[in-house]
Amino acid sequence: MQLIDIGANLTHDSFDHDRDAVLQRARDAGVVQMVVTGASREHSPQALALARAHPGELFATAGVHPHHATEYTAECDSEMRELHAHPEVVAVGECGLDYFRDFSPRPAQRKAFERQLEIAAETGKPLFLHQRDAHVDFMAVMKAFDGRLGPAVVHCFTGTRAELFDYLDRDWHVGITGWLCDERRGQHLRELVKHIPADRLMIETDAPYLLPRTVKPAPSHRRNEPMYLAHIVEELARDRGEDVAVTAANATATTRAFFGLPASS
Ligand SMILES: [Zn+2]
Repeated sequence: MQLIDIGANLTHDSFDHDRDAVLQRARDAGVVQMVVTGASREHSPQALALARAHPGELFATAGVHPHHATEYTAECDSEMRELHAHPEVVAVGECGLDYFRDFSPRPAQRKAFERQLEIAAETGKPLFLHQRDAHVDFMAVMKAFDGRLGPAVVHCFTGTRAELFDYLDRDWHVGITGWLCDERRGQHLRELVKHIPADRLMIETDAPYLLPRTVKPAPSHRRNEPMYLAHIVEELARDRGEDVAVTAANATATTRAFFGLPASS
């Protein structure tokens, strides 16, 4: 089984002391490639550096998460454009809107989102999108770019049935994380994931966040890491009524097509 984690925040400082061991455990669990999320001015260049250190295995996105939207200055825009000149940077983002936490003011979030959509429109690169509690505005901002964007994935989908169908109607992809395994707030996803066509479905850990709550035995720490993707795909396959090998193979093929990744060596 070959798995690809489309969302791993491997530049996070919680990995600083054992990043190589984390990568080895991922390989041992069948995770053959990972897309390292770049989500700020500070971490996007680090994601590229990590990808360049692991050619063919790690890839990067470059973007500014809505939490960091206030740092999206003209200078930041130039830095993002410079990062997108590198082939290891396979997607624009993480970008989008987050009205759940509102760490940045909403007008700043919309502005930073639009400027990154402009980069995606100009480069034709896929989009790695974040949306939380902001569906209506998110759809409106995306609508203004209709016909100008390449493929898009709404990562870490946690929303409603109506939101899911809005995304699928627009031919966007959906990323499923270990949120699915959260009996308190992810239960609705168990039924919804059956409706995602195989060629629109990708999988991710969002490590170090969102440690799947169903991992047994429960680790003593709360840090998530890419090796747990194997657990997420098992749960996802069960909910979809598929053999895990089928779910995994389809997600991997969909991911390679979406990001333009090579076959792993
Ligand atoms: Zn996110």
